[in-house]
Amino acid sequence: MTLEAPPAFSPAVHNVMIANKSTNTKPELLVRRFLRNSGFPGYRLHWRIDGEDGKYICRPDITFPGRKLAIFVHGCFWHRCPTCNLSLPKSNVDYWSQKFQKNVERDRRKEKTLVGLGWSVHTIWECEIEDGASSLLRILTI
Ligand SMILES: [Zn+2]
Repeated sequence: MTLEAPPAFSPAVHNVMIANKSTNTKPELLVRRFLRNSGFPGYRLHWRIDGEDGKYICRPDITFPGRKLAIFVHGCFWHRCPTCNLSLPKSNVDYWSQKFQKNVERDRRKEKTLVGLGWSVHTIWECEIEDGASSLLRILTI
């Protein structure tokens, strides 16, 4: 949602992340723990978002409904992180490339729909948890 350069490294973010690294390795759990520890416990998990016509759109990983802020925590492999650009599995290449393409298209479609409805969408990649959490914190403290 922002084209700015990633924010400067925040020692606060770093400390929270490091402190929890050994117990919670799942990226989504890390972000949730980080939000709680940073004083933003009011999020919902997998909160259902419908369009104006009442049609189901998606359930983001983390949502702040009052702020209309949807947060997706993406694993680099399944969601095809542009930074990591991980190679495809060696067998069943067609199957995997189609599957991944669908994942990426679905992500784009969801984001586009949400933004069209006035939501802010913040995506945090598994490989950039600290940067993603830093910029999330900046959004929340506005
Ligand atoms: Zn990545």
